[in-house]
Amino acid sequence: MTEASRNLSSWGRFHKVSAARVKTLEWRYQQLPSGSLTEKLLPYALGRSYGDSCLNSSHTHLLTQHLDRVLSFDRLRGILRCEAGLSLAAILELVLPEGWFLPVSPGTKWVSVGGAIANDVHGKNHHRAGNFGHHLREFELLRSDGQRLACSPTSNRDYFSATIGGLGLTGLITWAEIQLQPVLGPWIRQQTLCFANLEEFFTLSRQSLTHYAYTVAWIDSLAHGKNLGRGVFFQGNHGNKEDLAQLTIPRKKLATAVRTFPCDLPSWAFNRFSVGLFNQAYYRRQKMRGSAPTLVHYEPFFYPLDAVHHWNRMYGGKGFFQYQCVLPFAEGHQALGEMLRVIAQSGMGSFLAVLKEFGEIPSLGLLSFPRPGVTLALDFANRGAPLLALLDRLDAITRAAGGSVYPAKDARMSGEDFRCYFPRWEEFLAYIDPRFSSDFWRRVMEK
Ligand SMILES: Cc1cc2nc3c(=O)[nH]c(=O)nc-3n(C[C@H](O)[C@H](O)[C@H](O)COP(=O)(O)OP(=O)(O)OC[C@H]3O[C@@H](n4cnc5c(N)ncnc54)[C@H](O)[C@@H]3O)c2cc1C
Repeated sequence: MTEASRNLSSWGRFHKVSAARVKTLEWRYQQLPSGSLTEKLLPYALGRSYGDSCLNSSHTHLLTQHLDRVLSFDRLRGILRCEAGLSLAAILELVLPEGWFLPVSPGTKWVSVGGAIANDVHGKNHHRAGNFGHHLREFELLRSDGQRLACSPTSNRDYFSATIGGLGLTGLITWAEIQLQPVLGPWIRQQTLCFANLEEFFTLSRQSLTHYAYTVAWIDSLAHGKNLGRGVFFQGNHGNKEDLAQLTIPRKKLATAVRTFPCDLPSWAFNRFSVGLFNQAYYRRQKMRGSAPTLVHYEPFFYPLDAVHHWNRMYGGKGFFQYQCVLPFAEGHQALGEMLRVIAQSGMGSFLAVLKEFGEIPSLGLLSFPRPGVTLALDFANRGAPLLALLDRLDAITRAAGGSVYPAKDARMSGEDFRCYFPRWEEFLAYIDPRFSSDFWRRVMEK
């Protein structure tokens, strides 16, 4: 195990740890570093969490990127066992040519298996497939006392459900076994439809959920008046034999040209006018393109943002916040309308604004975020106090609607809110490894 210090940050770049204490894990057989109970440990994988749940200032980060070995792959049954630092990108490279795909994928493939478990991540197919945790056959949890717990739906079930969505606090996941889903190839039959308001979104979404495995919408967060809640709805299925015969396969996959965002933009570059212009142009372009189904490569369908490395620099050195909430169905429509009005009035809109209905499949983790309802995710450049005031107003709407905020995206929720959003937190305390903690955890437990 090598020890060093380096600068670490999360994806939102608001929380940064300079000269962070890091220990690089090389082998899954290693024990965790010894030390006193006051020196806390936290796994750090690819740092794609937006807030501080992957950071451990003044304590030690366990870097997992080198735990990236494939341990076995059953090509007939689609069962993959790998170390927890392996990325979803590497898994796709290996399994897709053999006719398998990830059962659930977040909006970036630069996420590790350990990170996907610790936040019990969801994707565009939540209504069909649930979360990442639903597809785990087994994993090993290494505790700081040296115990290695084999966790599965039938063995160490309590640690299984505490570790899924357990924010990296129950110990180190060394390896995991995942059930993949069969596919015919890399193509997705996609249809894109524009909607004029929230009413139309909910109608479209309801119809789509029964016919499509993947659904998600982009929403124009600055539209107001009669355009409030307008957006673009994306629905898709993995291509079947008929699709491949009838639709034209694009010659090139759209995401081949991966570029790197060259520099930090100043935060004032994101204002009512620039974001408003972008949103209008994007909506109009999608409207002109029409709604005929097309075959698209899975990369632009699942991972449009991965086409630009370090796109988070676009928000400048002060970083940005993502706000992702879920609102129960009964209150969702009204609460969403209220949120969009508050955002449009503030002029601090976001062009990355995503809306999706979660399904009814109950999450397995004690602290998993997904639950039945509609989820909204928005990025905001960090503009200091006025933005924080806006986010407080969004919190008030979420709380009043009985909703919740996603810890993987959060940089600021209060302890009181956390305990209200995740009522099983007390049950979870029993499974925390006494040597593990994080900046997020200290923030929500100590306030
Ligand atoms: C562009 C983008 C799109 C995204 N879209 C989605 C989405 O659609 N749905 C969604 O749910 N999330 C989404 N996310 C969030 C992302 O999926 C999660 O934050 C994920 O957990 C990040 O994984 P990571 O490997 O980068 O882990 P990190 O961010 O480094 O760590 C995340 C957590 O996992 C823990 N951890 C990591 N490895 C281990 C291990 N081996 N053992 C125990 N704990 C471990 C860490 O301690 C930390 O608590 C998105 C993020 C980005 C940047």
